[in-house]
Amino acid sequence: DHVAIAIDGPAASGKSTLARQLAAKLDLIMVNSGEMYRAVTWKVLQDGIDPKDAEAVIAALVEMDIECSVAEGRSVVRLDGRRTGDELRSEAVNGSVSAVAAIPEVRNRLVEMQRGFLEFGNVIMEGRDIGTVVFPDTPFKIYLDADAGVRAGRRVAVGEVDSVEDRDREDSRRKTAPLQVAAGAAILDTSGHTIESGTEAALELLRE
Ligand code: C5P
Repeated sequence: DHVAIAIDGPAASGKSTLARQLAAKLDLIMVNSGEMYRAVTWKVLQDGIDPKDAEAVIAALVEMDIECSVAEGRSVVRLDGRRTGDELRSEAVNGSVSAVAAIPEVRNRLVEMQRGFLEFGNVIMEGRDIGTVVFPDTPFKIYLDADAGVRAGRRVAVGEVDSVEDRDREDSRRKTAPLQVAAGAAILDTSGHTIESGTEAALELLRE
């Protein structure tokens, strides 16, 4: 049976960077669950649907052709057969994804797809509810955090317009699968870490 490493934490806490490093070192499939919520959000906006109108989003979700697979060791999301890319990181998607991700029907569908990745091999999956909901039984859980100022600066550095504070507030306050530290998760603050030292610290925590 395949195993999963769960990485959760607020926006720009370093989850993707750590997942990439660990995936390379440990030969794991890297799965970015946020991309799936972003893909649904992008499609909703594309169809002219109000992301805050849960009923309309659910109606659109039923018709949505969303597919996940693995290519070059990482997750790939397709909408209507087309591979998604940079459009998922637009300001519009950043500003609406938390509302879409708060809808339980959206989560149910995506969580099922996320669990399906285990068929492909051992995975490292990053998100908000991986240790609490997607893989609650895995012994490998890390909750990443970093100072708010450090996190905001990281998004500015990559040129993204993204109100991480607003997203974190919404993601932490929603009723279904809010961002929280999973039972059994080790907490790692990446504020003072380089990529290398943070990766080493995470490996140490996983060995314990
Ligand atoms: O990880 P990323 O910042 O790209 O995620 C975008 C958004 O998707 C988050 O702000 C959150 O609303 C949602 N999300 C989620 N659960 C996950 C991953 C992402 O609710 N497991």
